[in-house]
Amino acid sequence: PELISVANLGAALGIKAKEFIQQMGEMGFENITKDNILTGETAALIAQEYGFEAQVAMGEDEDLKPRPPPEDPSSLPLRPPVVTIMGHVDHGKTTLLDYLRKSSIVEQEHGGITQHIGAFSVNLSSGNPITFLDTPGHAAFLSMRQRGANVTDMVILVVAADDSVKPQTIEALKHARAAKVPMIVAINKVDKESANIDRVKSDLVAQGVEIEDYGGDVQVVCVSGKTGQGMEDLEENILLLAEMLDIRSETDGMAEGWVLESTIKPIGRVATVLVKRGTLRPGDAIVAGSVAARIRTLRNEAGQEIDEAPPGTAVEILGWKDPPAAGDQVLQAPSEDKAKRAAHYRQELKERHEAVALQTKQDQDKRDKA
Ligand code: GDP
Ligand code: MG
Repeated sequence: PELISVANLGAALGIKAKEFIQQMGEMGFENITKDNILTGETAALIAQEYGFEAQVAMGEDEDLKPRPPPEDPSSLPLRPPVVTIMGHVDHGKTTLLDYLRKSSIVEQEHGGITQHIGAFSVNLSSGNPITFLDTPGHAAFLSMRQRGANVTDMVILVVAADDSVKPQTIEALKHARAAKVPMIVAINKVDKESANIDRVKSDLVAQGVEIEDYGGDVQVVCVSGKTGQGMEDLEENILLLAEMLDIRSETDGMAEGWVLESTIKPIGRVATVLVKRGTLRPGDAIVAGSVAARIRTLRNEAGQEIDEAPPGTAVEILGWKDPPAAGDQVLQAPSEDKAKRAAHYRQELKERHEAVALQTKQDQDKRDKA
């Protein structure tokens, strides 16, 4: 609405494209093609040159917005806590996650081989479901946080007992602090001969982590993803902390979530989405960034089709024509039409920003040359 291509503006003014581009060149617009997008303001200025009184119609705001936060969360239903595993590469994040998943799969009847999707929900010993996330990509995590997303309710910081604090450990600490969520430290690989638990603890203290042994309130659990040592302890600590946090969300209303991963599989484009509010179902219309979709299939981490994804769960969503980006917010729309219009609006907004940025850069270049 607030954008127009050179070709369309020329047509609106009743001038042939080639002629129009040449005349625009005389007005000082360089390297213009008929496909260039002009902002409403620029188009109005050009139209004035031709004696027209042009008005820029402000585009109707067709964007979708998340709902305001609930007034009284304590009256809402409990939802599974979302626990993010972070730490330095090779310190055992995936191994610990696989251990937690396997110990729960045993209790499930299907017990099939699960693929790794980096996010899954399990029932630990207590029977209450918990959703685990393998560290989201750095960029996606930043993007979600910049938009004020509390994707995670707590962080498990994994530190290998034989390697101690490393650059990505410190990075993870920064994320956890910025997200203002509680943390549990899992000192992993304690089965190794070269394990040095005391060193890890003092290195953490040196990084300002207030661990319990030193009078702080950050729990530290010694574990081995290999032997299973200490894993029950870790589960208990997670459940206890989750209970204390009393995490609740609406199960109804327009759903909201975040894209954790976006990939192409043999069955098509798949996005792993963490649902934070509301419940997603097949057939629902959604928008992620400037991409609209109608949910064709929802699948859990075992690849099984499911009928609904309640808040606090991670699901694979199929049905995308275009790929959403990791870190994008997902919003349910009341209709597919509304989803498409919102996506279109966002796409135009994006193009407009890009066009303006390009124009600004070209103007600057011109001034630099002069
Ligand atoms: P990630 O990069 O943090 O996900 O680390 P991985 O889970 O991929 O583990 C890295 C390596 O450490 C793998 O070879 C694991 O088998 C090994 N590993 C993980 N946990 C343990 C543990 O508790 N004890 C021992 N000895 N090795 C482990
Ligand atoms: Mg890993």
